[in-house]
Amino acid sequence: MRIIVDRSACIGAASCVALAMKTFQLDMEGKAEVIHVTDKQQTTDESSGVSTIDNDAREAIIDAARSCPTNAITVIDDDGTPIV
Ligand code: SF4
Repeated sequence: MRIIVDRSACIGAASCVALAMKTFQLDMEGKAEVIHVTDKQQTTDESSGVSTIDNDAREAIIDAARSCPTNAITVIDDDGTPIV
């Protein structure tokens, strides 16, 4: 699963954090970011915010993405299929 946070669209509403707190957190600017874990668990391109991570249950991550009021979160399945 790949998770992309569009920081320019994020308004810091934090519903994603509430629903998947092992996956999302707010940074110093109050924008959502994917929580960093070990390199084995995640690969992140800092410039794009693209990550692969499985800290929360799949459904929790999907629900969190769908809860975003500005649709700032994109979730893509391992096979490249867009989920959210
Ligand atoms: S729910 Fe959307 S707007 Fe709110 S913190 Fe998460 S990414 Fe940002």
